[in-house]
Amino acid sequence: MSPMKKTLLLAAMAGLSLSMMLSVIPITIAHADPAGELPTVALALDCELDVVSTAGTRTVAASELFAGTWETTLGPEELLTRVRFPVWPGRSGFAVDEVARRYGDFALAGVACGVELDADGVVLRAAIALLGLGSMPLRASAAEAAIVGRAPSADGLSEIGRLAVADLEPTTDIHASGEYRRAVGAHVVARGLGTALARAAG
Ligand SMILES: Cc1cc2nc3c(=O)[nH]c(=O)nc-3n(C[C@H](O)[C@H](O)[C@H](O)COP(=O)(O)OP(=O)(O)OC[C@H]3O[C@@H](n4cnc5c(N)ncnc54)[C@H](O)[C@@H]3O)c2cc1C
Repeated sequence: MSPMKKTLLLAAMAGLSLSMMLSVIPITIAHADPAGELPTVALALDCELDVVSTAGTRTVAASELFAGTWETTLGPEELLTRVRFPVWPGRSGFAVDEVARRYGDFALAGVACGVELDADGVVLRAAIALLGLGSMPLRASAAEAAIVGRAPSADGLSEIGRLAVADLEPTTDIHASGEYRRAVGAHVVARGLGTALARAAG
């Protein structure tokens, strides 16, 4: 990922105003690339998306936006004009982590994740979304549930990484086999969560 993308992602994940980022973020989310970082961040953080057409404006939850590879639930006349990133309170940390064959390539597998900790370092809330592991960005709900209420060790994070990809069947293509993507996916989930936990702990 390029430094500019990292900056945009970190700004987005920090809940900063995104109006300054003009159309880049809405376009990239509307593009709905299953290997894109921003669609995955939008899904992880439960973004709200304003959609405008001649019929008026409506708000769509990120969880309702993606329909398949490069496909959204938006109508042909609808334009995504605004993205709202909810701000997480308290001791929160976030991370985007991924593996690509070369620097700047689309990732083979990746994660956007966030955790909120209580005063004892126990996870109160977790969000885990995956990229490159299906036909669209995916939420790893079972893994989220598994980390809440725990202060996981490195072994615990590995277990949660494996759980995040357990039910997935990523496709095999010229870049990687589905089996490889799944193995890498489990690893980046564990690593990304480790980063998010460290950031939350300060
Ligand atoms: C060499 C290269 C490397 C890349 N690497 C990455 C990467 O690592 N990670 C990553 O996430 N992306 C990557 N991208 C994708 C890139 O960041 C853009 O997200 C992507 O190209 C879409 O932007 P665009 O200007 O091409 O959009 P467009 O072609 O203008 O639009 C894409 C689609 O979205 C629709 N659309 C555009 N704007 C809106 C809107 N406001 N509302 C509704 N629908 C809309 C269009 O109709 C079109 O169907 C890469 C692109 C290239 C060329």
